[in-house]
Amino acid sequence: MRIDVITLFPELFGPFLTVGVTRRAFESRQVDVQLWQLRDHADGTYRRVDDRPFGGGPGMVMLVEPLERALAAVRASRVESGAPAGPLIYFSPAGAPLTQERVRSFAQSPGAVLLCGRYEGVDQRFLDRHVDEEISLGDFVLSGGELPALTLIDAATRLQPGVLNDHASHEQDSFSDGLLDCPHYSRPEALGDDAVPQVLLSGHHAHIARWRREQQLALTSLRRPELIAAARAAGRLNARDEAFLLGLASESKL
Ligand code: SAH
Repeated sequence: MRIDVITLFPELFGPFLTVGVTRRAFESRQVDVQLWQLRDHADGTYRRVDDRPFGGGPGMVMLVEPLERALAAVRASRVESGAPAGPLIYFSPAGAPLTQERVRSFAQSPGAVLLCGRYEGVDQRFLDRHVDEEISLGDFVLSGGELPALTLIDAATRLQPGVLNDHASHEQDSFSDGLLDCPHYSRPEALGDDAVPQVLLSGHHAHIARWRREQQLALTSLRRPELIAAARAAGRLNARDEAFLLGLASESKL
């Protein structure tokens, strides 16, 4: 997939793209990330990319014209390389909250153009004309869209075939089946009084799988009950899961 990022701070991306399990995917261009410095598309000696807001008030607004020139350059480069145009995604607190489901569909797509906002945000006319989708990282305000862009890139890259060492690894992750992940343990077996749950040492795969599933159900119903409701609505809970949850509910009433 090819991902183009329009940003005022391309240097923030380099260090992140050269570490960890995702590095190989970037180096081999399995996930081809192209960074575009917005300022290169600004006019004049001062290379202005922002100006004061009409109507007054604090902060600065990102200007339409440099953004349109940058976007045109990105689009031309994608055409030249044979990549599909792809949607333009803008990161904004007003966007739809990012979910693993959205990450999964993005990971299977041929990529996109990502726009990282700064200052108070982007002139609304640019958003109206060009943006296909707005994505939020959550109900808080960051100083720029670079962390959301890196977040989407990272989450989608680890889903690419061969990126995680163990294929099954991301299938076990939180949200992959709509539930939170189960706890994990490694050596040593006993840490003072804290022993590893016996079942994990039993070698009995079906028991281990059941225990993990029940841990997922218990943790999710405790911390994120709305995810249980969603998993139920999506038909992801079987009769054994429901029986376990019923047991949990009656236990907590005791
Ligand atoms: N005035 C804006 C905040 C601007 S913050 C507001 O109140 O909504 C500057 C930039 O950071 C935004 O343009 C956006 O690209 C990015 N940003 C900030 N918080 C974000 C969030 N929760 N999710 C996604 N992007 C965010």
